[in-house]
Amino acid sequence: MNLLLKRQLPTPEEVKKIYPVSDNLLKIKKDRDEEIKKIFTGEIDKLILIIGPCSADREDAVIDYIKRLRVVQDREIIKNEIFIIPRIYTNKPRTTGDGYKGMLHQPNPLKSPDMVKGILAIRKMHMRALEEAGFSCADEMLYPENHSYLSDLLSYVAVGARSVENQQHRLTASGVDVPVGMKNPTSGDLSVMLNAIRAGEHSHTFIYRNYETDTKGNPFTHAILRGYVNHHGEPHPNYHYEDLVFLEKLYRGDDFINPAVIIDVNHSNSAKKYEEQIRISKEVLHSCSYNKNLYKLIKGLMIESYIEDGSQKPDENIYGKSITDPCIGWEKTEKLINELAEYRVEIKKKFKIICN
Ligand code: PEP
Ligand code: MN
Repeated sequence: MNLLLKRQLPTPEEVKKIYPVSDNLLKIKKDRDEEIKKIFTGEIDKLILIIGPCSADREDAVIDYIKRLRVVQDREIIKNEIFIIPRIYTNKPRTTGDGYKGMLHQPNPLKSPDMVKGILAIRKMHMRALEEAGFSCADEMLYPENHSYLSDLLSYVAVGARSVENQQHRLTASGVDVPVGMKNPTSGDLSVMLNAIRAGEHSHTFIYRNYETDTKGNPFTHAILRGYVNHHGEPHPNYHYEDLVFLEKLYRGDDFINPAVIIDVNHSNSAKKYEEQIRISKEVLHSCSYNKNLYKLIKGLMIESYIEDGSQKPDENIYGKSITDPCIGWEKTEKLINELAEYRVEIKKKFKIICN
């Protein structure tokens, strides 16, 4: 076989023993999880921002960035309107398989893969975010078996556009106890995404990490719109008013447990023109201001943001600049979060006037 089983890795249980989550941190995560679930059920009216770099490539810059988010989150208007879930993405899907695969594979982006170091590095980084900034974060579940290494630290899980049709991802999502966002596939076929949501909601029996495994079903499985590419490989958005109304109808026509949508404003929605994320975020809120059903359905935005604007090659080594997809930098990020909070206040006033 053309495949070498190089060395056995520590199990999730072993790694969790090396880096246990203290009771105090568990409580912070539990409280956050409860609030997030209430946003998904509609009991709490806040906009979730899943925000952070495309890939969390170095711990110092990521923690620095996340501490800045904490300062913003604690401002009065932001506290009332916005719930921040930082993106700490430690696994990166690569379209051709080449390139940086994330900290799990390469704890140092310039060195060869080292999975043992990678497993410890990603757990340490997520732990620091919780410990030093009080944030339990989001990550992509690119390899379902690896989810167990972080399952006690994450408050949000995304299944990417290239994974959403995969059975193991769907079945594993059904056993995750925090919200799982199913992205539309790169083709843009919404039925694939809705089927994935349905599979995630249900209970299943399957093989997971060498065990016959039962899941209970995840009622917080939901949609993420990220734009798509046509059959010429060209990017097309799916965040426009008509797209949102169409999805709302599809969702309403079926009996999903917690219909919810997050709009990813980068990727094929922005054609990776990262500054467009600012306009698109506001456009999505604008659409919500016209349609109360959309206001209820759209629970949040996913924004790619870091300390510096744009992106770089890994060997350029600029602190806080993305080495995968281009991001909006800190100044723009802070301004955008404030503007989104202010916009929401306005929209809520408008709805009150309509309701009265
Ligand atoms: C991402 O969120 O960085 C990402 C790779 O997303 P997608 O699966 O939508 O391409
Ligand atoms: Mn990205």
